[in-house]
Amino acid sequence: MNAPLPMSVARDAAGAYDRVAFATNEVAGRLAQHLATQTQGEVLFSPADRGRYATDASIYQEMPVGVFVPRRAEDVQLAIDICRDLGVPVVSRGGGTSQCGQTVGAGLVIDNTKHVRNVLELDVAGRTAVVEPGIVLDHLNAQLKKHGLWYPVDVSTSAQATLGGMAGNNSCGSRSIAWGNMVHNVRGIDAWTADGQLHRFGRFDDSTGWVRAMGEQVRAMAAELAPEIDARWPKVLRRVAGYNLDVFRNQNPRPYTADGSVNLAHLLVGSEGTLAVTRSLTLQLSELPKAKVLGVVNFPTFYKAMDTAQHIVKLGGGTLTAVELVDRTMIELSLQNPAFAPVVRSAVIGQPDAVLLVEFSGADKASLVRHLDDLVALMGDLGLPGSVVRLEDDTAQKNLWEVRKAGLNIMMSLKGDGKPVSFIEDCAVPLEHLAEYTDALTQVFRRHGSRGTWYAHASVGTLHVRPILDMRRDGAPKMREIAEEAAALVRQYRGAYSGEHGDGLCRGEWIQWQFGPRITEAFGRIKQLFDPQQLLCPRRMVDPPRMDDTRLMRFPPSYKVIPLQPALDWKPWDVQNDPATEKTTAPGTGGDPAQGYAKAVEMCNNNGHCRKFDAGTMCPSYRVTRDEQHLTRGRANTLRLALSGQLGPDGIASQAVRDALDLCVSCKGCKRDCPTGVDMAKMKVEFLHHWHRRHGRSLKDRLIAALPDYARTAARLAPLLNLRNRSPLLARLGEKVLGFSARRSLPEWKSRHFFNTPHGTASAAETLAAAKPVVLFVDTFNGYFESDNAEAALRVLQAAGYTVHVASKARPDGGHLCCGRTHLASGQVEEARAKAREVAQALGPFAERGIAIVGLEPSCLLTLRDEHLSLGLGEVSRQIASQALLLEEFLARELSAGRLDVLKEKLRPVQQRILVHGHCHQKAFDAVSPVLRLLQLIPGAQPELVESSCCGMAGAFGYEASHHEVSMQMAELSLLPAVRNAPDAIVVADGTSCRHQIHDGAGREAIHAAVLLARQL
Ligand SMILES: Cc1cc2nc3c(=O)[nH]c(=O)nc-3n(C[C@H](O)[C@H](O)[C@H](O)COP(=O)(O)OP(=O)(O)OC[C@H]3O[C@@H](n4cnc5c(N)ncnc54)[C@H](O)[C@@H]3O)c2cc1C
Ligand code: SF4
Ligand code: SF4
Repeated sequence: MNAPLPMSVARDAAGAYDRVAFATNEVAGRLAQHLATQTQGEVLFSPADRGRYATDASIYQEMPVGVFVPRRAEDVQLAIDICRDLGVPVVSRGGGTSQCGQTVGAGLVIDNTKHVRNVLELDVAGRTAVVEPGIVLDHLNAQLKKHGLWYPVDVSTSAQATLGGMAGNNSCGSRSIAWGNMVHNVRGIDAWTADGQLHRFGRFDDSTGWVRAMGEQVRAMAAELAPEIDARWPKVLRRVAGYNLDVFRNQNPRPYTADGSVNLAHLLVGSEGTLAVTRSLTLQLSELPKAKVLGVVNFPTFYKAMDTAQHIVKLGGGTLTAVELVDRTMIELSLQNPAFAPVVRSAVIGQPDAVLLVEFSGADKASLVRHLDDLVALMGDLGLPGSVVRLEDDTAQKNLWEVRKAGLNIMMSLKGDGKPVSFIEDCAVPLEHLAEYTDALTQVFRRHGSRGTWYAHASVGTLHVRPILDMRRDGAPKMREIAEEAAALVRQYRGAYSGEHGDGLCRGEWIQWQFGPRITEAFGRIKQLFDPQQLLCPRRMVDPPRMDDTRLMRFPPSYKVIPLQPALDWKPWDVQNDPATEKTTAPGTGGDPAQGYAKAVEMCNNNGHCRKFDAGTMCPSYRVTRDEQHLTRGRANTLRLALSGQLGPDGIASQAVRDALDLCVSCKGCKRDCPTGVDMAKMKVEFLHHWHRRHGRSLKDRLIAALPDYARTAARLAPLLNLRNRSPLLARLGEKVLGFSARRSLPEWKSRHFFNTPHGTASAAETLAAAKPVVLFVDTFNGYFESDNAEAALRVLQAAGYTVHVASKARPDGGHLCCGRTHLASGQVEEARAKAREVAQALGPFAERGIAIVGLEPSCLLTLRDEHLSLGLGEVSRQIASQALLLEEFLARELSAGRLDVLKEKLRPVQQRILVHGHCHQKAFDAVSPVLRLLQLIPGAQPELVESSCCGMAGAFGYEASHHEVSMQMAELSLLPAVRNAPDAIVVADGTSCRHQIHDGAGREAIHAAVLLARQL
C-alpha cells in the first residue's frame, strides 16, 4: 500500500509522450479509423486540426496525435478504450483556456465542448445540479437564474470555461472569499478511470468497491504523511497545486465540506485530467444574491492598498463577496478609452495609485449600505478619510466591473514580440504579507528589466501579474530566473506557488518544490492507483517536464516566419517593445519577414474569449458550428501555423487556411471584442489576395467584385436581369453556373435610381463655401438598388438645414464613388486601392476643410475609416477617415452641438414599437448608439436594440449556395426570432444585407433609419 513510487511509473510517464510523439502514422491511422468506425464523434486528424488543439492560453505548444469531438458521453468511453488498446494518451479538454499548458499534450485530445454539455438533473429545492463536463459556466448560470440560483465559482472566463475544465483546474472566482473554489462546490463526480471503468466519486463514507479501496489507500497515505502535510501544505484558500491529499487532513482555511466529511470527488478536482475522465459533475448551487453594493477605495500608494486588504476582509459580517484590485496603469489605460473614462472618473478621487473594489452582497440593499458605512469608517481609522466612493446603483456597479475587465484587455494588446507572460500570475500569500510580497516581486521585475501590472483578487491574497518577456529570444531563461526568485518569496511568506491557474507544463516541476519529496512521491502513488498505464495526460502533475523547455513552446527560439509581401499595410504591427516602459518602436521596424502580417496574427494569445455567446458579435460562425476551426482563435492559429511553415510549403495560400476562413463573415466582431484586437476580417482580405493570386478567381467572385463598375449598365437592363428573381429555372441555372443560391432573391435592379435622378444638390464649390456643409457619400447599393434610402437621407439633411453635396468622382463626367469593399471582399487589393484613390481625390478637399463625409451603408462608409488606412495612401486617407461618419453619427454629433433644433421641431410622433438591428461594422465602430439616440428624437419613439450577432448575410456570403445554410443559422441565433416576436414593430436595419436577410428569413421589410426619420418629417 505505502510502497515507494515504482521506478517504472516515472519511466513510463517519461516514455509515454515520446512513444506518441514518434507514433507511427500507422498508429495514428488506426486510431482515427477505430474512432471513426466505432463512435459517433468527429475525428479530426489533419495537421491544421491538430495544430489548432496544440495550444491553449499558455505559452506552450505540442502537437496531439489527433482530436476527437464526442457526440455522446458513450463516445468518450469508447475513445478511452481505443486509446488504451493502442497505447495513446488521452488529453481531456474544455474551452482550452488554461494558462499553464494543461490541455497541451501529444495524445488524443478529447474536446467535450461541442456536444457533451447538457444539464442532466436539476434539483431546485436541494440546490444541486448534475451536468456534463462540456457545459460553459455562463450557460449553466443562465439556466439557473430563473430559479434564483447560481453556481458561484465565477471565474473571469465564465463565458467560455466549462465545468469539466473548471473542476480539472480547481478554478476559483473573484468571489471565492464568499463561496470558495471549485473543490468547495462539487458534491460528486462520475468519471472513467483509464481502464474504462465508470466510477462514482462522492462521500467517502458512502463509497464502495474500487472507489472505497482507493480512498482507504489515500487515507493511509495522508495519515502516514500527517507531519509532512501539516508542515508543508500552504494554509491559504487558494492552493491548487498537486492532488488534494489534504481531503483527509484539511489544510484549507475553508473546510472542503460543510459537515467536515470527506468527499472523494475532491481528489479529482484539480487533478487536471491526470486521474480520470469526467462524465458528469454534481454541483452544489447557491442562492443568487438579491442585492449588491460596491465601495471603491482610493489609495495614494499601491503598498497601502495591499496593506489594507487584510483589514477590509474582516468587514461585512459574511456579506463581503469581493475585494478586487485595479492599479494605476489600468486606471490610466481605462481613462484613455472614451467609453470608459466617465465611469472611471466617477469612481476615482484625484489620481490614486490603486483602488480596491469592495463588494457586499446579500438579501437587501439597506443592510448592505450599513457595511459601506463601516468601510468608510475603517478607512478613516486607517488614515484615509474621504477615500471611498460609494456605488449603490446596480448599473453603476456593473459598468465599473466591466471597466476592470476591459482594462486588462487593453494591457494584453501590447504589440511586438515581448508579451505579458503568465507563469507566476497567481501565487497566493497570506493577506498580512501581501504588501511586502508585491513590493518585493516588483523589485524582482525591475532587476530583470521588466515590470508588471497588478490586478485581481486582493481578498484572498492572489494578485495577477504578468511580466513582459520575449519568448523568442531570452524569455525562457528570464522566466526561470524570475520564477525562482518569486518562489523564494512565496516560501518566505508561506504562500502557495500555484494559487489559481493550476500546474500543467508551467508549474508541474514546482509541485516537488512546494510539497517536498515525500508528498510528491505520494502524488505519484495516487497517479499509479488511478492510472497505472500512464494513459491520462502523462507527464503532468507527476514527473513533469521543465517549465522552460523551449521544445514545448509555441514561440521557441527556432520559430521562423516565411517571408511574405503583403498587399495591405501591416506595418503598425511590425514593431518591438520595451518591457519596462511598454513603449513600441516605429511601425515597420519589428523585423517581421511578413512585414507585420505575422505579428498581427500572433496577437492572438489563445485566451479563448472568442468562444462566447453573450452580447457582442464575435464570432458568428463559431456560434453556429461550435467548431474550433470556425473560431477567431482557430483561424488565428491556422494562420500562425501556415505563416511559420508548420502546415507545409504553401504558407498563407494553403487549403487549410482557406477552410478555416471560409465561414468568416468578415463582420469585424473580433476587431472590437477580441481583447488583443485580432482583426480577422482584415486578415481575410490579405489571405484572399494571396489565395486568388495562386488559385485564380471564380466568375462569381469577379461578378461580385466588379458590381460597382457595371452597375450603371446593369441598371439599364433592370427588367431583363430581374427575371432571375421571377424564374426558378433561371435561379437554379444561376446556382449551377455561378454559385448564387437559388433559394435567395438577388437585389432588384432599378431603371430609375438615385444616380440618374436629378436632386438639385449643391456643387462642390457651393458646399465648400457653405455655412452648414456636408458631403453625402452614396454607395452602390443605396444608389442603385435602394435609392429611397439615399433620397431619405438627403431629405433629412436638407430639412436639418445642411447644404448637401453628393460625392462623385473628381472628373468632368462625375460618376459615383465606390469605397472598394466588393473588391476587398474578394482580396482584390489593387482594385480597391484604385477606388480608394478616387475617393481620396474627390473627398480630400472636403476632409481637409473639416467637412463631414456622411454615408448610409455601414460596410461602405466605414471602409473609409478602416481598410483605406491600410492601403498606403498616406495622410489624405487619415483626413478622410476622421471626417467619415454614418448619417446617424453625424446627426448625433450635431445634436450634441445644439445644431439640430430645426430637425427636431419637424419630426412627427410615431406610435409603433421600433426594433433596431445594428450592422456588425456599426457595432465594431461603436456606431449603434447614435442610431438609438437619433431615433429617440422622434416623439414617442422608444427604439429597442436587438441583442444580435451577425445577421449572417455579410455582403455576398449569404447569397452563396455553399453558405446559405450557415447564413440562415446565424440569422436564426437571435435576429430573426426577435423580429418574429415583434410582428407589429418597425424594424430598423442600416445594412443592406441585413435588410435582405430579414426579408428572406422573416418576410418583413426592414428600413434604414434615414427612411424612418424622413417619414416622420
Ligand atoms: C484571461 C483569463 C482569465 C482567467 N481567469 C481565471 C479566473 O478568474 N479563475 C480561475 O480559476 N481561472 C482563470 N483562468 C484559467 C481558466 O480559464 C480556468 O481554469 C477555466 O476554468 C478552465 O476551463 P476550460 O473549460 O477552458 O478548461 P480547459 O483549459 O480546457 O481544461 C482545464 C483542465 O481540465 C481538464 N479537463 C477538462 N475536461 C475534463 C474532463 N471531462 N475530464 C477530466 N479532465 C478534464 C483538462 O485536461 C485540463 O487539465 C483564466 C484564464 C484566462 C485565459
Ligand atoms: S482571437 Fe482574440 S479572443 Fe480569440 S483567443 Fe485569440 S486573442 Fe483571444
Ligand atoms: S470577422 Fe467575424 S466571423 Fe470573422 S473571425 Fe472575426 S468575429 Fe468571426
